[in-house]
Amino acid sequence: MELQQLYKETKDLRSSPTMPLLFVGHGTPMNAIEDNPFTRSWQQIGKELPKPKAILAISAHWLTSGSKVTAMSAPKTIHDFGGFPQALFDQEYPAPGAVDFAEATIKLAQQSHIEADMEWGLDHGTWSVLLPMFPLADIPVYQLSIDYSQPPAYHYKLAAELKALRDKGVLIIGSGNIVHNLRAMRPDQKTYDWAKEFDQQMATLMENGDHQSILNFLDWGMISKLAHPTYDHLLPLFYVLGLQNEKDDLSFFNSAFDFGSISMRSAIFTS
Ligand code: ZN
Repeated sequence: MELQQLYKETKDLRSSPTMPLLFVGHGTPMNAIEDNPFTRSWQQIGKELPKPKAILAISAHWLTSGSKVTAMSAPKTIHDFGGFPQALFDQEYPAPGAVDFAEATIKLAQQSHIEADMEWGLDHGTWSVLLPMFPLADIPVYQLSIDYSQPPAYHYKLAAELKALRDKGVLIIGSGNIVHNLRAMRPDQKTYDWAKEFDQQMATLMENGDHQSILNFLDWGMISKLAHPTYDHLLPLFYVLGLQNEKDDLSFFNSAFDFGSISMRSAIFTS
């Protein structure tokens, strides 16, 4: 969708009692400090969204055994990457933690089990997006981990138990990529056919609300393996879909590819 239209729609959000829900394609960690069309959208969304009481991020970069939420009062900035310029390692995102919301999240999950974590912090899947989006770092932030041993349905069901957080002023952001093949990245930016096909199929199913077919993405054949040699970057989307309300409107933004094999397609759900 056109960015101008996105601004208009997000402006109307201010009166909404239910917080919007975001899936953000985060791409390269350099987006934390680069000025490009992707990061300009993030900046604009940060300005237009109602100010959240807290932000809950589900990042592709926190994979655990069991589900955890960060519950410390001052989460550290984790520089979980290598081979990037010193300027990126120098970045800090000193947002406070959200201890009360972490406790509320643990309580909300009645069927699933979530534990409090005091070790992690904010990984780059979270802060590389939040730095452009909310540069003041004055909103409390916490993360929910992804139990990588669990099947797609686990993540979807766990997320559905947390829907009430959206009515409590929590902005929930799933941070991953709808297509993510690092080995196939190419500097000429020519997008692969399989990448376009997977991305488009995912967008269509999201528009149709066909979550079951999305959760069964491994049955889509060869394009699934090519789009996700490992599927850690798709899992945050399953949380977002689980948190979606039936009455939510869906809009896409940043619907483009980076390096030919990374879909930056992002989605905002508004009630
Ligand atoms: Zn990533």
